[in-house]
Amino acid sequence: MFDINPPAVNPNRYIKKITKRLKRLANHFGVCPIEVFVFHAVSDSFDPSQCLRGDWSSTADFKERIAALKRRYTFITLPEAHHKLKTDLFRSKRYAVLTCDDGMRTVLSILPYLETENIPITLFLNAKYLDGVSKRDHYTEKPEYITQGELEQIVSPVVTIGMHGFEHVDHSTMTRQQFVTSIVESKKLLEKHPAFIPYFAYPWGRFNPSTQQWLKMLGVTPVLSDGRSNYRYINGIDRKCVDSPSF
Ligand SMILES: [Zn+2]
Repeated sequence: MFDINPPAVNPNRYIKKITKRLKRLANHFGVCPIEVFVFHAVSDSFDPSQCLRGDWSSTADFKERIAALKRRYTFITLPEAHHKLKTDLFRSKRYAVLTCDDGMRTVLSILPYLETENIPITLFLNAKYLDGVSKRDHYTEKPEYITQGELEQIVSPVVTIGMHGFEHVDHSTMTRQQFVTSIVESKKLLEKHPAFIPYFAYPWGRFNPSTQQWLKMLGVTPVLSDGRSNYRYINGIDRKCVDSPSF
């Protein structure tokens, strides 16, 4: 007997296949995506009281991954990437941007390495925790954040400073008043640094159409965490996470 039922079609598989082919075609015609990577904590050994396991990379792993990325991409700053995504739509060169969220102190130790490698980095900080006293609720026992004094000491040609909210809370559930206050207050503290740039990385990447509108009103560029590549600028800068070894 023959089986007359056709094999089951998985539409997702076909969509993925077509997307992959379109991307390959786009690359062929000189439209390379700009990849924006985000990581969180880097240190020689993991300390569970300092950060979550999923947010951490060992210094050795981190350097290895960065070296691998550097062989593949030319690293540029976030504002440079933003400009290219708006104006230079036919890019045959592969560009990447490195960003770091949360502003944990451990990150300070890898800045000299990035400077030696000439790799720009944007640090997205929560302004409230710069006081060295305030702690992020519901995280770990004693995450230690970059303090105001340490921020002032960051004088590096590769570092730019962006916003991650006044506190590390869900900004997509805020009222307009709360949201605007969070941005204005964090800007007030962070823009004292000469390398400040008006970009806002949503904590956990959570946003909605209203928060996008409010950022536009404030002249701040949204930075997302959606795992996507950037082909041109639409509603924000898309990012991929590099904490996990599978990136
Ligand atoms: Zn965060």
